[in-house]
Parts: sequence; structure tokens; C-alpha cells
Amino acid sequence: MPKILIKNCDALSFESGKAEVIANQDILVKGNTIAAFGKSGTLQVSPEIEVIDATGLLAVPGFINTHAHTPMVLFRNLAEDVTQKEWFNDYIWPMESNLTEEDVYWGMLLGMAEMIENGVTSVADHYFNMDHIARAVETAGMRANLAWAVFGHEGEKKLDQTVDFINRWQGGAGGRITTWLGPHAPYTTSPEFLKLSAQKAAKNNVGIHIHVSETANQVALSLKEFGITPVKMLKETGVLDVPTILGHCIYPQDDDFDLLASAPTGIAQAPRTYLKHGSGLAPIQKYLELGIPVGLATDGAASNNTMDIMEQMRLLPMFIKYKTSDPTAMPLYQVVDIAFRGSAKVLKHEGKLGELKAGMLADITLIRQDGIHMTPRANPLAALVYCARATDVDTVLCDGKVLMRGRKLLTIDKEAVQKEVQSRLGRLSRRVPGARVAYYPTL
Ligand SMILES: [Zn+2]
Repeated sequence: MPKILIKNCDALSFESGKAEVIANQDILVKGNTIAAFGKSGTLQVSPEIEVIDATGLLAVPGFINTHAHTPMVLFRNLAEDVTQKEWFNDYIWPMESNLTEEDVYWGMLLGMAEMIENGVTSVADHYFNMDHIARAVETAGMRANLAWAVFGHEGEKKLDQTVDFINRWQGGAGGRITTWLGPHAPYTTSPEFLKLSAQKAAKNNVGIHIHVSETANQVALSLKEFGITPVKMLKETGVLDVPTILGHCIYPQDDDFDLLASAPTGIAQAPRTYLKHGSGLAPIQKYLELGIPVGLATDGAASNNTMDIMEQMRLLPMFIKYKTSDPTAMPLYQVVDIAFRGSAKVLKHEGKLGELKAGMLADITLIRQDGIHMTPRANPLAALVYCARATDVDTVLCDGKVLMRGRKLLTIDKEAVQKEVQSRLGRLSRRVPGARVAYYPTL
């Protein structure tokens, strides 16, 4: 069993109940697990162990991206300054009709290279051609929850193909892959299709990853067409009875809160996307008060341009402080809790991910703290949330294996992937009138 000793780091700990950084710690990794965690020099280790000298580095749990369409890095910077309706109908869904399985594979690798460089070790991904995404995850060494996105017009046959996918890949890549179902959203599926999805998820003992209530317009459209909110629609069709990841959920209405609080759900938040698209802010504090897990997400890079989870972490409290005109809202410990423990809960991986302690899976990110933008070292939590940049991430382990060391990616040939993706841009960015994978309805 491979063993690694991460020596003499500062480490993020939740042992006291609240996030804090403790200095001079050693972390012993055995196989894919954190075997021991303690004051530097106190752990019993054999002399032949691989040592990572982490002096001056901050060890945090690997970041978790709770809602992404990772291969959309292929469409980065191709739909700027447009309305949500134009973004879907005139840009993204026409361009997605160009996608081949190989495009998705290379896009996934590019997005994972970016995420690993950002310290992300787990992603909940929601996209198409998921077998090729799973293949890329296997290569890259990340952990992933994979859901094949399906639109209602694709029908039950397509949904069944995604059930075949969950059965092919559940527990794949040495246990790093889990699979769920992924009906796209209440606005792109019928109630009958959602019902079918919920039944098939329950039958196969998996959850559902879905978008819901991203805009006020979507809620108004649902009320007009069905007389109920999109969240209520998820409840009535049985979707909220299975475990769910809800992308965004920015506009819950009054009765929705009780439905969400009593469901095995988690809500993914991508504040950078909401700021860029002017789509508003979810009632995050109310979700937290009700005990509804909230996690961080990047969404796709076509909507907010990067897979930078640390920037999402930074923008979350700033957006809340701005919207509430309250500088005391969303204090540091709460932001850090959402980033790690909250995100692990959203993925239903609490007890396995989101904390550095013995018995947890060895997904660990080591961050430099010696940048001029982090000096002097006065408050390590403030430095982590408000100063640290993705380029400060030095070393990343997932499942006990080193994926990046000293900023060198060890599982992905970055230059080769960049070249592949660039060579596909011309064909992928073509927009053929009338060709699109789905239609975005508005009032
Ligand atoms: Zn999304």
C-alpha cells in the first residue's frame, strides 16, 4: 500500500466545530485514506515513506465542484454579453449540436487540468456522452459524480440509455466515479419525463442532478403553465424523494423552503455565473438556517469563463455582503464551511470528504502562502478566502495519488490537451441556423 507523509504543513481543521488553521501538522496517507493527522514529528512512519515537505503550505481538503458542465470549456468566451435566452438558443445549444464524443473527452481533460490546477479534486458533472467523460476522469485521477444530461424531447429511450450508463460506470475508476441521472431541468422536460426519471433513479438506487429555478422568469413560466413552482414540480414528480443536487435554485417561493428542507437535497451555488448573467442571489442564509446543504460550483466555463473554484469561494461572501448591505453577513468560517463540508454534503460524501482527519479519503490540496498578495501572514482563513489565487495551489492529491506536484500536472499532458482543443474550435464554434440540442422557453 503506497504511503505518503505530508510534513509540517499548516492545516485547515474543523475539529473545534468551526474552521480554523493549525500550524505544524503532519498528515499520513495510506492507500487512498488519511491514516493519521497530528503535530509534526509525532506520527510513527517507516523510513522508506514518500515525504512531501509542506513547510509553509496550507493543507485543505481537495476542493469540491458541486455543479459543472466541464467540457463546456470548449465553448469558453464564445457567448458574451447576451441574455439567458440568447445564450441558450442562439449560442450554446446550436454549438453543442456540433459535439462529437471525442470533443467531449478532450474538453473534459482540459477542464480537469484547469480544475486540478485550481485545487479541485471532486466534480459533479452534468453533460452529454458521459462514457467519454468517465474515460477522461479515469485518466486524470479526479473523483466525479457523473450525470448524463437528458432533455424531455429525447424521450424514454434516451433516458434508459443514461440508466445503462449509470450501471456501466457506478463505482468505476477504482471507486472514484459515482453515477446519477441528469434530467436537464423542469423547463426542458415534461412532468411525465421528470416522473419517469424519479422512478428510474429510485429503482436504480441513485440520485438526480438537475437545474431548477435559475431565474424569476422560469418560475413565472412554470406557474403559468402548470400552476406550481419548479421546486413544487420536482416534489410532485418524485424527484425530491431521491437524493438530488439542485443547480442554482435562486428563486424558491415561500412553500418551496419546506419542500427543500425535508428532501435529501443539496444546492450548488456558482455566484460568478449569477453576477455575470445578472441572475440574482439565492437565499443562502435561509437555506443554511433550515439545514439545507449548500456547496460551491463553477457551472460551465461558457457561462462564467473559468473553472476557478477559489474565485467562486471569494465572490460568495462578497455578493452576499453587497446584496444585504451587511458586512457582517457570511463570515469567514461560514464561507470555508460551505466550500468544504457543505460541498461534501451536497455530493452526499460527508464523512468521506470535506475534512482533513483520520479515516477520510485522501483528497488534499496544498496551497502556497508566501505570495506578496498574502503577506503578512496574519489571518490564514482571510488569506485563503480573500487573497489566495488558483496559481497559489502547489500540490494536489486525490484518492491518495499525487495529481499535481509543484504545479506540474502528473496525469494530464496539458500542452497536448490545449493543442487538441484549439484544433477543434473552428468546427465547434459554428452556429448553423435551426440546429440546436434543445430550446429555452421564456414567458
Ligand atoms: Zn448548469
